[in-house]
Amino acid sequence: MLISEQERFWSHVIKGPADNDCWLWVGAVSDDGYGRFWVQRGGKQRAVRPQRYSYELLTGLALPRDVLLLHDCDIPLCVHADIDLARSHVWEGDHRKNMLDREQKGRTVNGATAWRWRGLPRALRAERSRALRQTVLEHGWDPALMSAALSGTDPEHPRLF
Ligand SMILES: [Zn+2]
Repeated sequence: MLISEQERFWSHVIKGPADNDCWLWVGAVSDDGYGRFWVQRGGKQRAVRPQRYSYELLTGLALPRDVLLLHDCDIPLCVHADIDLARSHVWEGDHRKNMLDREQKGRTVNGATAWRWRGLPRALRAERSRALRQTVLEHGWDPALMSAALSGTDPEHPRLF
């Protein structure tokens, strides 16, 4: 049976239970810690960023190639987009004026304290993304386990054993 591209996309996403939680991409993760979603365009395979795919799909906006999407929640795997910027976890680079709101919101998402990724070296970000993906795939949405998976690769909180 053929499934649509969108069905295939959402089959790789696990959503947190609360409205404000992240929606985590659990498909392919590349070496920069961000996801990869393969689509057919013009008869060719092309990798797209899941958060960009989701953003365009859910907002109906076309995202120019040179416009970066920023993650308000700081989770590279998050694809929680919404036309309402107050709800969306990703937004275009020039919407930074909403930062204050978002800083507040960021502290309460996912039923855990915010996981700060900004400024992490690329290899560490990839390691964290994969640890997070693995945990969610194995155990479902479990904030305590997710935090543990992430802190296991946090240079400020080295693994104890
Ligand atoms: Zn998020």
